[in-house]
Amino acid sequence: MDIETVKPEVSPVPIWRCRSSECKAWMREELVEESTPACPICKGNMMRSMKHLPKLAKKLKPKKKQQNDTPLLH
Ligand SMILES: [Zn+2]
Repeated sequence: MDIETVKPEVSPVPIWRCRSSECKAWMREELVEESTPACPICKGNMMRSMKHLPKLAKKLKPKKKQQNDTPLLH
């Protein structure tokens, strides 16, 4: 099996992009709660755009600590 060439799967993702041409700030729309977010860097207006990004990995549930607090003292 040829599993050496693993290309990250990219897909067009809606993003918010800073309107300022000098500011390269952007963020995934799905991670933005506000309907009209302000740029986190320059506090300017942002506009919708698209960007090809690797798909977000499925959120993994935080592993529960299975270690009991039983110090192994010799
Ligand atoms: Zn900005």
